Amino acid sequence: MLKNRVEHPEEVTDFAYTRMVFDVSQGTVASCRDVQVQDDMDFLGGIGRTFKVAAEYDVTDPFAPASPLTINTGCLTGTAFMTGLRAYFAGYSPLKRTLAGAPMPAWSAMSGSFGRKFSATGMGDLILTGAAPEPSILVVAQSSDGAPQVSIEKAPPELVGTRTPERIRYLNERYNDREKRSFPAHFAVIGPAAEHWETVWYACIVGSTQEGLMTGEDKYRYAGRLGMGSVLGSKNIAAIVALAPKDVYLKGDDRLKAINREIGRGDQTRGFRNPTNNDGLGGTGKNTRLLDNVGVVPFRNFEPHGENLATPVHLETMRDEHPDLVVVDKGCFGCQIACHQDFYEAPEEGRDPDPKKARRNHGKYLGRYEYEGMELSGPNLGVLDPHENLALARLDDDLGLDTISANVVVGFAMDYNSRGGDQVAGGLQFGDADGAARLKEDIAYGREPLLGKGVKAISEQIGGAPFALHSKGVEHSAYLGQTNPGYPFAVAGGHMSMRTFLLYVTDPKCEPESAQYWIDQITQQGWSCITKDLYGGCLFALSPPAQVAEGIESVFGIPFTGERLLEATYRAYIMGFALERKQGTELADYEMPEELYTGERKGDLPGVHFLSRELYGQIRDSVFEHFNRDVERLGYGHLVGEAS
Ligand code: SF4
Repeated sequence: MLKNRVEHPEEVTDFAYTRMVFDVSQGTVASCRDVQVQDDMDFLGGIGRTFKVAAEYDVTDPFAPASPLTINTGCLTGTAFMTGLRAYFAGYSPLKRTLAGAPMPAWSAMSGSFGRKFSATGMGDLILTGAAPEPSILVVAQSSDGAPQVSIEKAPPELVGTRTPERIRYLNERYNDREKRSFPAHFAVIGPAAEHWETVWYACIVGSTQEGLMTGEDKYRYAGRLGMGSVLGSKNIAAIVALAPKDVYLKGDDRLKAINREIGRGDQTRGFRNPTNNDGLGGTGKNTRLLDNVGVVPFRNFEPHGENLATPVHLETMRDEHPDLVVVDKGCFGCQIACHQDFYEAPEEGRDPDPKKARRNHGKYLGRYEYEGMELSGPNLGVLDPHENLALARLDDDLGLDTISANVVVGFAMDYNSRGGDQVAGGLQFGDADGAARLKEDIAYGREPLLGKGVKAISEQIGGAPFALHSKGVEHSAYLGQTNPGYPFAVAGGHMSMRTFLLYVTDPKCEPESAQYWIDQITQQGWSCITKDLYGGCLFALSPPAQVAEGIESVFGIPFTGERLLEATYRAYIMGFALERKQGTELADYEMPEELYTGERKGDLPGVHFLSRELYGQIRDSVFEHFNRDVERLGYGHLVGEAS
């Protein structure tokens, strides 16, 4: 949360934020002070500040007690700006590593209501160091004088070894009162996967939503990528409670009403809404059919030999042709986009043909249809049964696994076994949903010492690097790398921090065989999608910079512009790239797996066959040089210098 330093702020430097370093080993505050905002990156928040924190630490082991994990929010988190809900978890990633094995800084973000409560406690940046001697709960609480209080206590049995829904249900009963509809607390928890952080490097953090706490159903949001849950687990923190009885809710002036109307109901978010919600196109789940129609949906470890391979588990098929299923769209606190597509069993008497009635009359909750989770635990594993697909995706959430990394690992194991020779995971084969579920359980509970470490580490030990789908150790998202030479230049999650992944299908001006096209896309605009990782809004709001700037003016009463927002975003991106260089990356770190190139097994598919080694080499060399130049130009050269 930002605090006014003067009665009538006129510029970003008229604000301050609280920065606390909390040593979880001792359970004590190592330092706490209010810091004056120095620039737009500080003001916007999120990774605008956490990259600066990362630069202050020398880290060779992401799990070392001295390695920091920073939790913060954006300037619009917890305000009336629609989708302003995000919380960020930033540290050094166990997955994202240099070729020499050094961990690189990264972050993961989640919506839901943890962020708005965390912000309402008055906390700005909470930096955790150390490791608690026993599994613990960290409580970040509001106080009467506005200064956040942090305490730590032993975790009860309900929070050790249990699955994430059980943990959140326990905390909800303890800190909230459902009968009185009183919810002063929200939660961020790890699951069993993060408890086994030594062998699970892609554990996630699960955050509570207002609707989930009110209904008691499994409705959560996730900071999934890059193993931030594993880092939290290494600190022995089972759950973080953000306790703020009084909501501090900046409402903004009249301009915010129009902005929120556009975000909630306008064209910019149509793609993420349900068809019954202002003519929506179906949420992220629509991507399965979109990509499958043109033969580029990930199938059996990113190798689709044809079109419409996954029709039974298209969102539209499950929604429109399965009378045994009911889909209900739900949203985070105050968000009218309502992007969550939750599937339920139909009631015994059958699904009501009227969608408005059906949503109020359904059977038990089965799971949510989000593109990445459903695609990678469905078609990419050769699993095409809707019920099996929903259950497999939901299992990741229950165990506290990042659904993208977990399923890319399972797909890799299936691919590995399909090629003959040594077998892993009991010889697991494509299409074996029960076997995939067993493997996920084994990984999460620490019974698979290798397969929890991500495809980079696995392939280094047992082979298979050409079809281990990752860049810099980060498993590729549910978009073929064959269509996306931008993956190696993502500074965090492959599709959340470099927006080049859909261009091959959606940009009518795409020139896939032109190196210059990709160079321009990566260096001129791909990075701009991380804007939301500073200010606290949701990716799915697709808010243009001018809209965010107007929202900031409305909420904080200071001048701001879209240009300033983009400039701060680019600075953050370049600082992230400089921190990668600080950890020792060289040109060779920015690579793609061998089999994606033309002439290789996954490189010549009917739907895509343009990415030759030569083409990628041209793109890589030019982008690397461009970003290095800007590291110097923007004043981050000293970070790279520190490495040598
Ligand atoms: S778009 Fe979806 S994830 Fe984002 S705030 Fe709205 S409901 Fe939550």
